Amino acid sequence: MAQIIDGKRISQEIKDSLKVQVEELKEQGKSCTLVVIQIGNDPASSVYVANKKKACEYIGINSRSYELPEETTEDELLELIDELNHDSTVHGILCQLPLPKHMNEKKILNRISPQKDVDGFHPENVGHLMIGEFGFVSCTPAGVIELLKASNISIEGKNCVVIGRSNIVGKPMAMLMLRENATVTICHSKTNDLKNICKQADILIVAIGKPKYINEEYIKEGAVVIDVGIHRDANNKLCGDVDFERVEPLCSAITPVPGGVGPMTICMLMKNCIEAMKYFS
Ligand code: NAP
Repeated sequence: MAQIIDGKRISQEIKDSLKVQVEELKEQGKSCTLVVIQIGNDPASSVYVANKKKACEYIGINSRSYELPEETTEDELLELIDELNHDSTVHGILCQLPLPKHMNEKKILNRISPQKDVDGFHPENVGHLMIGEFGFVSCTPAGVIELLKASNISIEGKNCVVIGRSNIVGKPMAMLMLRENATVTICHSKTNDLKNICKQADILIVAIGKPKYINEEYIKEGAVVIDVGIHRDANNKLCGDVDFERVEPLCSAITPVPGGVGPMTICMLMKNCIEAMKYFS
């Protein structure tokens, strides 16, 4: 039977250790602040923002939020970002995505100071990851590395296949696995013979964005399977990109959905905020 990688427990342990760090910093008179900007009132975004505030509260990070109307102009948002970039009491800034259609997402995200870019989306931080220097790393792939390490799954020398090449998940995930000395293959929608490539994987990381797409036909016996996907099925139940019931019997370890990769993302965001405060303030 496969080891079920318990993201809920691992993220809780990390949050508790971050809480201790924040308490120690407070004793030295230092406090950490995250600013979350939400434009419009997309219900899913509101849930994500509320969860981020809740995690900040638990760990002891100050959270400040700007809930701006849908009609906010790009210039107004850029002005606010400039102001926050220069505010020395603010350590992390994030703009909840998606932004309204009249805004240029790239322009907005690139305006956040790389030293406060706790989402790890700024090209300067992406470049740091590429050349192996310190910088903020996109939270979901960073969380996957933490999950593997906390589960004592060794990465070095392993064949790792990453399905997906988005800037937020697939590409940084592949770079992080390379940094951990895996031999990495990246697959995407134009990949030929996906099944056979996946069958070579000791560690298969799935970020394909299609519910239950990966079944037992893609899995090498004994593989570790990490499911980044998150969807609601026909019965409104959460599910991942991997068909858990069909894949689990074959693998040595697997993340469930929910309770696998999901809880790690906010946790890594909190970690980045504390690092922003420690290194750049
Ligand atoms: P995305 O931007 O839609 O990227 C999907 C990737 O999968 C693309 O690179 C695409 O290739 C590739 N792909 C699509 N169909 C394919 C196929 N038939 N064969 C091989 N590759 C295929 O999605 P994302 O933002 O990276 O997110 C991936 C999943 O993770 C989603 O389910 C999302 O909801 C979830 N997610 C979860 C968290 C979390 O906190 N747990 C965070 C972020 C995302 P092309 O590049 O060629 O189009």
